[in-house]
Amino acid sequence: MPQTVHIVGAGISGLAAAVRLANANFKVHVHEATQQAGGRCRSYFDAATNLTIDNGNHLLLSGNRHALAYARSIGTEPGLVGPKRAQFPFVDLATGQRWQLDLGESRLPLWVFDRARRVPDTGLLEYLALMPLLWASKGRLVGDAIPCRGTLYRRLVQPLLLAALNVDPPEGSAGLAGAVVRETLLAGGQACRPLIARDGLSAVLVEPAVRLLQEKGASVQFGHELREFGVSAGSVAELKFGGDIIGIGPDDAVVLAVPPRPAATLLPGLKTPSKFRAIVNAHFRFDPPKDMPPILGVVGGLVEWLFAFPQRLSVTISNGDRLVDMPREELAQAIWRDVCKAGGVEGELPPWQIVRERRATFEATPEQNALRPGASTALKNLFLAGDWTDTGLPATIEGSVRSGNRAADLVLAMRQA
Ligand SMILES: Cc1cc2nc3c(=O)[nH]c(=O)nc-3n(C[C@H](O)[C@H](O)[C@H](O)COP(=O)(O)OP(=O)(O)OC[C@H]3O[C@@H](n4cnc5c(N)ncnc54)[C@H](O)[C@@H]3O)c2cc1C
Repeated sequence: MPQTVHIVGAGISGLAAAVRLANANFKVHVHEATQQAGGRCRSYFDAATNLTIDNGNHLLLSGNRHALAYARSIGTEPGLVGPKRAQFPFVDLATGQRWQLDLGESRLPLWVFDRARRVPDTGLLEYLALMPLLWASKGRLVGDAIPCRGTLYRRLVQPLLLAALNVDPPEGSAGLAGAVVRETLLAGGQACRPLIARDGLSAVLVEPAVRLLQEKGASVQFGHELREFGVSAGSVAELKFGGDIIGIGPDDAVVLAVPPRPAATLLPGLKTPSKFRAIVNAHFRFDPPKDMPPILGVVGGLVEWLFAFPQRLSVTISNGDRLVDMPREELAQAIWRDVCKAGGVEGELPPWQIVRERRATFEATPEQNALRPGASTALKNLFLAGDWTDTGLPATIEGSVRSGNRAADLVLAMRQA
């Protein structure tokens, strides 16, 4: 009966596993390499804008039920805010056209039957042509499963799948794209309400989890990087943190919730995704006009999504490898020009910050998707978590939480065995 569980990595997947196990009365120890929890989903104070910003704008949808349940379990679900209805305003920077996609409040995608709520200039048949994504096999490309051209593609499918897969959609995994469409568009407006952590990712999704763990007697150690496993009789017997070595009892368990590269170093022979894509975020210190929507979809420009926060306009650009080496000032100017057009604002470049997360997500192609391991390992008491494990979803908060829950459930099953 495992009494003690060590969670290595305090990103969302590690925190989700830790919270679940602390709630099941395990003695939980979390070990995080850096000085801050949250991993790729965190906030920090930025001197250039004099604001606390997130490393990247993170969008959740109301259908992300595991992510929402996680927020509920740490008491912060009300911190995920968004419009009451699944409405997505869009602008096309190439033509200046603006429209609003209204997915309604139903559990069914009834909006596709209503011309007024569909993407302008699209017909029902174009929506039906997306159906093959729903039963696409794992190895198929999006580009082989559905038509990647035309108005519906340009105005809805491309922005949605680019954001979800973080690759150019035609090269993406149709299996992963199908999972996204099944859990969002196909589940009706009720599952598509956009939600953001308005007060910051750390304040809503990270720090309350750390506090809750500490209140439950768990330890959360920062600057505690796992360097090596000591193995004995097919189980983890030691965790080696440089000079500091922790013995693992025969009934204790370990959840490894680190990104694929450190996981592959710690577990030689482990198959993991090996290719990654960048996401670029730009933050501008600027008071958004009152009528500006909290989230604006942008097509036909460099910017893909424009977010309005108190005192700040923020931009997300996915599949951003092409921008990683561009001079920062030049990039900030180019993005600000798009922001002015899309948001209907004007002015000189305000104080700004560009955050380029080079390995934001694994590459959601069929080839890389096939390299994702499950949660069990060759070592009896070691389980994997992380958005890159085989969750059936692309690298998202929802996938991270599911992976953390699954690893925790395997630890619980060990106790019951
Ligand atoms: C810019 C950006 C925008 C994004 N936008 C969205 C979005 O809009 N919606 C969405 O759902 N998802 C989004 N994502 C994806 C989401 O952030 C990730 O899926 C999620 O945060 C991954 O969590 P994780 O716990 O799996 O991994 P990580 O966050 O990578 O956590 C792993 C942790 O392990 C630690 N670690 C590493 N090695 C060791 C070691 N040896 N010992 C101890 N600790 C170690 C790391 O420091 C880190 O804290 C975005 C990601 C980025 C980068």
